[in-house]
Amino acid sequence: MFELPQRAIDTAAQVESFFQRRVLPSNRLWEQQAKAGQAVPDILRMLRAEAKELGLWNMALPRLTDDEPGLGLTNLEFTAVAEILGRLEWASHVFNCNAPDVPNMELLQLFGNEEQKRQWLTPLLEGEIGSAFAMTEPYAASSDPTNLETRIERDGDEFVINGRKWFATNASNANCELLILVGVTDPTAAKSQRQFLVLIPRNTPAIEVVRNLPVFDHMSETNLHPELVFTNVRVPASNLLGEEGAGFAIGQARLGPARLHHCMRAIGECEVLISLMVKRSQSRSTFGKRIDEYSSTQAAISLSRIELDQCRLLVQRAAHLLDTVGNKSARKQISMIKVAVAKIYQDIADRCIQLFGARGVTGDTPAARAFGKARAFRIYDAPDEVHLQTIARLEAGEQSIEGLEHYLRE
Ligand SMILES: Cc1cc2nc3c(=O)[nH]c(=O)nc-3n(C[C@H](O)[C@H](O)[C@H](O)COP(=O)(O)OP(=O)(O)OC[C@H]3O[C@@H](n4cnc5c(N)ncnc54)[C@H](O)[C@@H]3O)c2cc1C
Repeated sequence: MFELPQRAIDTAAQVESFFQRRVLPSNRLWEQQAKAGQAVPDILRMLRAEAKELGLWNMALPRLTDDEPGLGLTNLEFTAVAEILGRLEWASHVFNCNAPDVPNMELLQLFGNEEQKRQWLTPLLEGEIGSAFAMTEPYAASSDPTNLETRIERDGDEFVINGRKWFATNASNANCELLILVGVTDPTAAKSQRQFLVLIPRNTPAIEVVRNLPVFDHMSETNLHPELVFTNVRVPASNLLGEEGAGFAIGQARLGPARLHHCMRAIGECEVLISLMVKRSQSRSTFGKRIDEYSSTQAAISLSRIELDQCRLLVQRAAHLLDTVGNKSARKQISMIKVAVAKIYQDIADRCIQLFGARGVTGDTPAARAFGKARAFRIYDAPDEVHLQTIARLEAGEQSIEGLEHYLRE
């Protein structure tokens, strides 16, 4: 079942070649340009143009139509590509396969009307603009979206938005032109029908960036997580995305593929960490032995390999289910991969740090940054506990083994 389709194998080979030839050797330049304050570094712009020209573009959007640019792979096909992109933090951007633009494009594909698609989906597909998704709020436990407090109130033919959001990734980047905001219109409506999604042009007056938030003290130059205040922000009522009160269901639709992509990218990053662990442990000795000769090192590397390969299979199965039975029916598998991959990502980063000794906690290897990202991954796209709750509930509903009493003694 997990023999990948030929299109996935061929595309992954093309992406691998471009990644090795053009993207990876540009990493230092990208870092310099990002540190110099370029919101979209020049080298990234150049590589995006090349990737688009090659047709290695918009690969994470299975619903891409024939007249839209790029190569919409199925979710299963994209797993092979996403793993390569995960090896470098900015590589997904080269191919227009990055979050949050991909899940936002999916939302527009699924729920946008023709005018909304023309105004926002087309430039996103072309890679001309960036976007953000603003759901989480600092003063509401946002892993339960029914807690959200930001108000979206109707005033004639406009919506008026008031509230505070944070961790709206990319919303403070200079390339961001669209915010998709989740808010509440009628706080007395049924809990699952209170949420609305509105499309807000980023340059709308009265949106204040309070600050950009660090992740474990790391402040990325390009991957920004701002806190935003909306004070009487006005947009036309036609900016409603989807049906009134359907925001909860729409938000759920966004999350399946997004989680899958994050998981597959994390697996790619873990491959780099394992390679670094092997290389480092072969190159140093203590107490008369090479570090890779210690059983503790062998266990660290072996367990990482076992767990990573298990996770890859789990993710491929989830992708296959997303393609065949859809987001809703695959939700248990999506929750399973989210928990499993975040855990092994964190564990592998931790082992890599340990093997690098003091160097492991510096920025001289990708391990420390990976550890921080992995820890954050256990919270975003819903915290571990929320997924475990979902898995347990669905598992209980699916249990079907009969005759259990025969296994038990009175
Ligand atoms: C790097 C990063 C990027 C992000 N990007 C975005 C973005 O682009 N857009 C956006 O809107 N948000 C984004 N977020 C926010 C993220 O989605 C939320 O942090 C997440 O949904 C959790 O919400 P919360 O922080 O309000 O935690 P809370 O809901 O307050 O939960 C806190 C803790 O309570 C516990 N808990 C909650 N529910 C349960 C339960 N059912 N059972 C047991 N324990 C439970 C868990 O330990 C959980 O971690 C991002 C976050 C990070 C760290």
